[in-house]
Amino acid sequence: MNAPWIDDEQAALQAAGSPDNGSATPVQKALKIERETHKLEKRLCRQVGQAIVDYNLIEAGDRIMVCMSGGKDSYGMLDILLKLKARAPVDFELIAVNLDQKQPGFPAEVLPRYLEQLGVPFHIETQDTYSIVKDKVPEGKTMCSLCSRLRRGILYKVARELKCNKLALGHHRDDMLQTFFLNLFFGGKVKGMPPKLVSDNGEFMVIRPLANVVEKDLIRWAEHRQFPIIPCTLCGSQENLQRKQIGNMLREWEKKFPGRIENLFAALHNVVPSHLMDNRWHDFKNLKTTGIPDANGDTAFDEESFESAAFPSAGEGLGTIQVVQL
Ligand code: SF4
Repeated sequence: MNAPWIDDEQAALQAAGSPDNGSATPVQKALKIERETHKLEKRLCRQVGQAIVDYNLIEAGDRIMVCMSGGKDSYGMLDILLKLKARAPVDFELIAVNLDQKQPGFPAEVLPRYLEQLGVPFHIETQDTYSIVKDKVPEGKTMCSLCSRLRRGILYKVARELKCNKLALGHHRDDMLQTFFLNLFFGGKVKGMPPKLVSDNGEFMVIRPLANVVEKDLIRWAEHRQFPIIPCTLCGSQENLQRKQIGNMLREWEKKFPGRIENLFAALHNVVPSHLMDNRWHDFKNLKTTGIPDANGDTAFDEESFESAAFPSAGEGLGTIQVVQL
């Protein structure tokens, strides 16, 4: 599977038009906005197409349940998948599904109205998990863990009933980085959020088509498309404090150290188990010398050096990480 998922023209698209130096006329400004929006759409399609190719997320005959929360990410995911479906090299189906958890104030009419207008097959599952969670979780404790467990079970049941073989979730690049650092800082694990995995019951493939997409682009796309966003605070649960901290840290890094977030994301694609310490991924115990020179072999005693402006000077903001500038 190759090119048709990704338009070559998209990859080559150049930065648009004249810089807005304050002298642009309203017409020029409008044209610039139009060009920028066009570029954004191309970029979103290209990045989703790339994830589909890289991880073989979508195959001929797939019946994909697109999980819709009513947030900007899931709207964006459905929108881009529909665009790609129209020109995809393979035939597949998309069914949008929303779980109405009966949170107080949930505007139950918003998603059905939107999906009807869009003309996409959809299903709204209504299950009062809100009352269960409220009942079971003591006041003041976070409800998310039980709530998401219940939601997962219901979504699998719905996928089975709808005869879907895949579930698409709207997590994006920034969610993936946040999860990586949550595991690193609070879980003692080098573990992220995969673009594709088998569901815990072994029955479905779970895919994340927005794996390469930057959250800022989804915010801009949602504004442009004027998605009828449903607020995610209806349950009254407090935002996960640790995730919030990590999000703030990453945003601060992005501002202070241009390129660092891109490097971090690149690192998730470039793992070297022989240079970590996990015996399950590298058999350190039975490691043998070969006597054969290896151009990629380790230089063992040399200090690593990095040619990157993305990092601060030694120690700054990174605690104990040592960076040797070339
Ligand atoms: S934020 Fe609310 S709806 Fe979302 S997982 Fe937590 S409890 Fe459930």
